[in-house]
Amino acid sequence: MSKGRGKEADETRIVHAGKGGERHHGTVTTPVYHTSTVLFPSVAALTEAKKSGGGVTYGRKGTPTTFALQDAIAELEGGGACIVLPSGLSAITISLVGLLDSGDHLLMVDTAYGPTRRFCDSLLRTLGVETTYYAPNRDIRDLLRANTRAVFLESPGSFTFEMQDIPAVAAAAREHGAVTLIDNTWATPLYCKPLSLGIDVSIQSVTKYIGGHSDLMMGAVTAAGDTFDRVQSTAFQLGLCAGPDDCSLALRGLRTLAPRLQQHGRTARTLADWLVDRSEVRRVLSPALAHDPGHAIWKRDYTGASGLFGVVLEPASDESVAAMLDGLRYFGLGYSWGGFESLVLPVARRRRTETPWPEDGPLLRIHAGLEDPDDLIADLDAGLARLSGAA
Ligand SMILES: *Cc1c(COP(=O)(O)O)cnc(C)c1O
Repeated sequence: MSKGRGKEADETRIVHAGKGGERHHGTVTTPVYHTSTVLFPSVAALTEAKKSGGGVTYGRKGTPTTFALQDAIAELEGGGACIVLPSGLSAITISLVGLLDSGDHLLMVDTAYGPTRRFCDSLLRTLGVETTYYAPNRDIRDLLRANTRAVFLESPGSFTFEMQDIPAVAAAAREHGAVTLIDNTWATPLYCKPLSLGIDVSIQSVTKYIGGHSDLMMGAVTAAGDTFDRVQSTAFQLGLCAGPDDCSLALRGLRTLAPRLQQHGRTARTLADWLVDRSEVRRVLSPALAHDPGHAIWKRDYTGASGLFGVVLEPASDESVAAMLDGLRYFGLGYSWGGFESLVLPVARRRRTETPWPEDGPLLRIHAGLEDPDDLIADLDAGLARLSGAA
């Protein structure tokens, strides 16, 4: 199982991290602090709080609920400090804005989450930062320019699940003096610890597995030292904060992340193995499968696989795919993932420029939920029959 850096296992750490019961009358969960104003007992105390810059001073800068969640995530990531933000996307954009200046150059992985790419191509460009996309398995060294200040990774990539050699990219960037950031949402800090692989900034869409119940939007950025300070300062300058109710929900989700993730991963594996043998299926995309091109890297750097994977069908009409998906009983049709419910999403052609996609069949993204795997297989079995019947 996924062992933490220290003496205790992550499964133990996740139950106790960020708890501050003695400060809250012994309650097991950190209460939800709804507050803007924090009153100080004296001018001296107010002046001291302002000087130190930490602690509970004003709602926007964090409440005890926020701090409990941030401390717990930082502890799981294995270092540095964490700031939570209103969405996963804002965690990505604030990090990039905080760490890049006008005139800087950014290397962005070609298989990044779509909205990350859109941000680089529009607002970040307007701010004077130039982005070059690189193929996920490429040696980046000849792409580094004198003004390359940051390298962004996402592994496995959104929708197509290509793995990146994280330590190799991190080492090349570090030698060049560039900061590295990774979107680690697929693995969560339980299955991959980017900071221990040489990455400077680990980003989570908390909306997904940490939240785990499809009822909140949040992002988290974990980093150390000056890198963290720059990201935090940018978030503060822009006036962004996560609400206390959402922080409480995220903390609740975090406590059960380990067993949920185990179940998501096991069910995803069962579904993937079943799908691989079907004649309607051309390829299953998941680094956890032995035939996958990213399997060796995944095995080396990750301690588990979550419940999200891709399926390439044999070429079929849009109508056939719609017939398959429209009739599914348990798999919901919708965005996001990481909740208790199974989801499926037809993926339109990916916008990528450096990594040709060789498959011409329809691509589906599947999130294995917490339902019984046999029920899910029966659902997919009936769906594939509709797919063939409509063809
Ligand atoms: C969903 C997602 C995000 C964005 O998270 P939100 O909380 O929806 O803003 C970022 N990266 C990846 C890989 C995602 O799947």
